[in-house]
Amino acid sequence: MIDEKSVKYDAAKALQQPAPGEKPPAMRKARPVIDLKKCDRTYRCVVYCPENAIKSGKEGFPSVDYEKCDGCLICLRECPTTAIAEEGG
Ligand code: SF4
Repeated sequence: MIDEKSVKYDAAKALQQPAPGEKPPAMRKARPVIDLKKCDRTYRCVVYCPENAIKSGKEGFPSVDYEKCDGCLICLRECPTTAIAEEGG
């Protein structure tokens, strides 16, 4: 049985339109962004991402596939150089 008090629904967030190729914001808990100036290309984010949403991109730097990313922010916690941050966080 669903406890109505435990269900949070943000209507404004649910109505936002996703960027092309991204999961709708209501389906993603957060949006990680990578600061390539801080990135040492350790690839810990690639290894630890449970959604396999981070790939090696331009010049070997990691790149987030927002179509797969569910916003768990494990990548943020695993990055040794704090190169990943939550957008707007
Ligand atoms: S937030 Fe989670 S799912 Fe998204 S890229 Fe980071 S580890 Fe992968």
